[in-house]
Amino acid sequence: MKREREQGGVAVIVLVAMAVMLGFGAVVVDGGMLYLTQTRLQSAADVAALAGARVLATQGAAAAVTQATSVAQANGLSADQIEVTVHLATQSVAVSARRLVRLGLARMLNHSEALVGASAAAAAQSVTALRGAVPLGVVWRDFVFGQVYDLKVGGGAGEEGWYGALDLGVHGGGASEYREHLTHGWAGLVSIGDDVPLKSGNMSGPTRQAIGSRLDGCTHVPTCTFTQFVPNCSRLLIVLVVTPPHNGVVEVLGFAGFFIESLPGDGNQSFIRGRFVEFVVEGEAGSASFYGARTFNLIR
Ligand SMILES: [Zn+2]
Repeated sequence: MKREREQGGVAVIVLVAMAVMLGFGAVVVDGGMLYLTQTRLQSAADVAALAGARVLATQGAAAAVTQATSVAQANGLSADQIEVTVHLATQSVAVSARRLVRLGLARMLNHSEALVGASAAAAAQSVTALRGAVPLGVVWRDFVFGQVYDLKVGGGAGEEGWYGALDLGVHGGGASEYREHLTHGWAGLVSIGDDVPLKSGNMSGPTRQAIGSRLDGCTHVPTCTFTQFVPNCSRLLIVLVVTPPHNGVVEVLGFAGFFIESLPGDGNQSFIRGRFVEFVVEGEAGSASFYGARTFNLIR
């Protein structure tokens, strides 16, 4: 009798141990799968919300929902697993995703499925700092999107003898530095509130060369136009919106985009002809006056 009771006790201990090990196994195996699923859902929700917000800014709410949905689907979610919401007041797109995950080991512990969820929201924000600006400044004068403007660049009889060229980069750099930054954009960070020295002198030649290579640099198919251009197209000039010059410097107020239409004129009255456009750029976001530069970020 005594021996049987001992054997029964051992059997109970073994069963309990197996249940505990099964429990640990379920936590490790199923937990890992749930974690992986959640990570995937989150990144799908993130990219869908960002894609939706980009479309919302230009094409409206219905198109934003369509875009967010198709991007979510391209990332492995089905239509019934996602919910897309547009908030017009904040110009944001929210995506929530959920998926029922069938469990493995945990099924033996009476848990056959678990619901995994993720949510994200993205919105357009004004740009407060960016890289890639050209060494040109414009004083704001109620530019209208889609209209053609001439940006003067040559030295001459402008305010304080200034026509728009700025000394970005190594201050006091020559015309070749100006041409380099006008051709490729300056790699340094320009922020709202920065003071930038004016650059004097007639740089008609370097301006013409830089703009010419920017025009040639757009090999996109179909060819970019001011209504439809690749975000980093060389024909987009990111120009600084600045205060009127004072004591040889201007203060940066924001960022404007001009889509280059043609080569500048010759002579010391040279100008760049471009369309004032809205554009999307990587940059630091915040609350700032809007001159056409937008960046898109996840807001939760
Ligand atoms: Zn292009």
